[in-house]
Amino acid sequence: MTTTPAQPIYPLASLPNDGVAITDEDGENQTCPCGNDSQAADWVPADTTGAMTFEASGSSNPAEHTVCPECGRLYRNADLFTGAAAPIARYDVTSAAFTAALAQYNRYAFTTKESR
Ligand SMILES: [Zn+2]
Repeated sequence: MTTTPAQPIYPLASLPNDGVAITDEDGENQTCPCGNDSQAADWVPADTTGAMTFEASGSSNPAEHTVCPECGRLYRNADLFTGAAAPIARYDVTSAAFTAALAQYNRYAFTTKESR
């Protein structure tokens, strides 16, 4: 059973929206069913509508979201806080809207966080 945002902000993938993301005990690392984890590739913060934005970076707002940039799965922060989160949607990572938004996020992230 999955629920999707009322208005998906990017095209949805035709791939199965399955699996569960696991957050470790200290909350520092999350592992996606696709194999991506917080230490392999950055997860991308998204706002309450599911739109990727640097503004939501580091947010602990349970109403906001987190996107796995590798597979496009979208998680609610509230679910991630529980330690095991089922994705609520899965974006098509090959869609123009998704790749453009991710590129924009990365440009912003890497031009404002030089010290990383
Ligand atoms: Zn993933």
